[in-house]
Amino acid sequence: MEIRVDRDRCAGSSLCVSYLPDVFDQSDDDGKVLLRTAEPGADAAQAVRGVVTRCPTGAITVRARDAQEVRDA
Ligand code: SF4
Repeated sequence: MEIRVDRDRCAGSSLCVSYLPDVFDQSDDDGKVLLRTAEPGADAAQAVRGVVTRCPTGAITVRARDAQEVRDA
């Protein structure tokens, strides 16, 4: 799994950071999302997909090695 974030779409809600602080971070400068890691372990996959569906702006996408990009905007 590879995570991508679109910082232009991010509203700085902190939701992703609250759910997965080992994966997501928030910039001290503009409050928008930062990635701690773009390729979390397989054990985090389900939690990451949950965050993708909860992000209020659809700023987070994930791509599995053998699947299409998933976005829930
Ligand atoms: S949940 Fe979405 S809008 Fe909120 S900080 Fe994370 S990427 Fe940005």
